[in-house]
Amino acid sequence: MAATKKLASFRLPPLPTVGELIKLYNLRAEKQLSQNFLLDLRLTDKIVRQAGCLNNAHVCEVGPGPGGITRSILNAGAADLLVVEKDSRFIPGLKLLSEAAPGKLRIVHGDILTYRMDRGFPANISKPWDQDPPNLHVIGNLPFSVSTPLIIKWLENVANRTGPFAFGRTRLTLTFQKEVAERLTASTGSRQRSRLSIMAQYLCTVHNCFTIPGRAFVPKPEVDVGVVHFTPLVQPQIQQPFKLVEKVVRNVFQFRRKHCHKGVEKLFPEARRAELTQEVMQQADVDPILRPTELTIPHIRALADAYASLCRREPGLLSYEFREELRLKRLGAGYSPAADALEDA
Ligand code: SAM
Repeated sequence: MAATKKLASFRLPPLPTVGELIKLYNLRAEKQLSQNFLLDLRLTDKIVRQAGCLNNAHVCEVGPGPGGITRSILNAGAADLLVVEKDSRFIPGLKLLSEAAPGKLRIVHGDILTYRMDRGFPANISKPWDQDPPNLHVIGNLPFSVSTPLIIKWLENVANRTGPFAFGRTRLTLTFQKEVAERLTASTGSRQRSRLSIMAQYLCTVHNCFTIPGRAFVPKPEVDVGVVHFTPLVQPQIQQPFKLVEKVVRNVFQFRRKHCHKGVEKLFPEARRAELTQEVMQQADVDPILRPTELTIPHIRALADAYASLCRREPGLLSYEFREELRLKRLGAGYSPAADALEDA
């Protein structure tokens, strides 16, 4: 009991402030790597609190940079913190933190887009998928240039129970450009409803925790930042392969302002388009004049199920890609204004 209390009350010893570290190691922010730092530890504490209780937790922090969030995670009682940082200039400052928290901080100099997180933590922390999430959290103030491809990759990992989700329903607490955070959490009928809303929400409970004004960062980015928390669902709301769902959603949202059947049509080659679109819409029982933003996840599930059953009957349909056909047509016929208009839809 006394030992538990001691662990819970771990505080880092006095250290140079994050600002002083930046000066000490001459850590000029690199625009190319979208480096905007958080120096206010009350704010980094607030971000870390969104993850839930970190006492004795295993945590992976992405892009620790000068280590503000890293300090907050250690002070929240994490037992094992693995940080993945691409820029070697930050490694000495992170080593200083590691010395101040002996045995708690592991530093990986690498790229989070290729890092094998499934190998980063002991297998015995895993929890069966249908039980509570494991005591493993992923936290990060991501570079904007990385955050969207990374969340799409991690959503696919959720669907396949790989990467961070090889350990169970690992929770993520991540920052995004405010507009992306709004899209991730947008509900049916809202202006921000998009592909990202469906892909995130069919797999996870997604919560837009709070917005950080751009002025809180050094240097100040052009945009504000949203902190988003994800918990994978025990049962995904759509029971089809991720790639198939992604294809249906991408096509449906191709024409955001038109009736949804316009996008569904593009799942099929021109010669069979009318007939197969009608079949899918009828089988799914979805009103073809709904706009993509008005579709609920059950609507998308019905469309994905109907499309999957058609593809089982006619396997050649699955590999058809409207955009690929369009690209080939454009190559053959030169510039096409109609095609350009479509790209902008
Ligand atoms: N977490 C720090 C903070 O809040 O002050 C730094 C945030 S800064 C927006 C993003 C950090 O991610 C930088 O340290 C940058 O070097 C790092 N980074 C950029 N791309 C990365 C990648 N692909 N893998 C790992 N780290 C990356």
